[in-house]
Amino acid sequence: MNKIRIGILGYGNLGRGVQLAIKQNPDMELVGVFTRRDPSSVEVNDPSVGVYLVDQAKDFQDKIDVMILCGGSAKDLPEQTPLFAQLFHTVDSYDTHALIPQFFAKVDEVAKVSKKVSVISVGWDPGLFSLNRLLGEVVLPQGNTYTFWGDGLSQGHSDAIRRLDGVKNGVQYTLPVKEAVERVRSGEQPSLSTREKHTRECFVVLKEDADKDQVEQQITTMPNYFEDYDTTVHFISEDELQKNHSGMPHGGFVIRSGESEANEKQLMEFSLKLESNPNFTSSVLVAYARAAYRLGESGQSGAKTIYDIPVGLLSLKTAEQLRSELL
Ligand code: NDP
Repeated sequence: MNKIRIGILGYGNLGRGVQLAIKQNPDMELVGVFTRRDPSSVEVNDPSVGVYLVDQAKDFQDKIDVMILCGGSAKDLPEQTPLFAQLFHTVDSYDTHALIPQFFAKVDEVAKVSKKVSVISVGWDPGLFSLNRLLGEVVLPQGNTYTFWGDGLSQGHSDAIRRLDGVKNGVQYTLPVKEAVERVRSGEQPSLSTREKHTRECFVVLKEDADKDQVEQQITTMPNYFEDYDTTVHFISEDELQKNHSGMPHGGFVIRSGESEANEKQLMEFSLKLESNPNFTSSVLVAYARAAYRLGESGQSGAKTIYDIPVGLLSLKTAEQLRSELL
């Protein structure tokens, strides 16, 4: 069997995770890692894997089938996906939900010209959660969909804390409000405000001469990030932060609460509990790399979201095996 040849663009948390996930997929091989940094400064998990400057990727068009784009959503992917869709089938985890339609249009234009498949915005949210929101809506058209995140570490909110004056280090956890979840699970279909659905908990290491109250005030009143939530701030030592808060757990659940035409309550729930958010997201990216390759082989091109891809294409198993083993 010819293996699907994978490249990794960007070697952060997701880049490392993709390298690990490929090891669990025997139909794939990693050809190389591409970075904007000096390649000799990037330590990869498996030293036998070549690390190259991003500009060298164009020389790999005959050697790589799918480039998995592991850059950040804020700055990297809006530039990198349209650029690399000119050269390879691509997969990315672009997660700026509000801008996905524009991102899709831009990537689609490029990928149609290059005749490549570009799978955008896969991971868990957007990604598997999006798929489950759709399933909920189609199966239970009368009802409401609820997405709860957590318990989990939010990278964006942790970064926002770390940028504040007086803060040396810090992390932020998003927690679903238990009472809200219970009300939804009971089939009540409540209308919930932002504050009623999630709380935020921060663990902060202060700089030496920082004022505790002032830092707490800056956090709890920060617009867009904390102001609309009940936020608790704990001050801890750097040692404690390293010991107890260096993992990247996350998760959450999508619940569709509806009723049938005969007024029975029907509840659908999809839930994730992840010890490592990036390593799970990377596993999703790798599965969609298989689908991107297969779609490309079947002559398709253009941008695709999770809604455009038949789920059977994600599996290493043949359609026949799926029919006999999993149906
Ligand atoms: P990182 O910050 O770890 O990596 C992003 C990029 O930064 C890398 O591609 C790398 O590019 C560069 N980088 C990494 N480490 C360093 C370093 N030490 N010094 C300088 N540059 C570095 O981000 P993540 O991998 O954690 O996440 C990437 C994106 O994935 C997030 O922005 C998020 O939007 C998305 N995501 C999506 C999810 C979903 O469910 N859809 C879930 C989780 C994340 P280079 O090698 O070129 O320097």
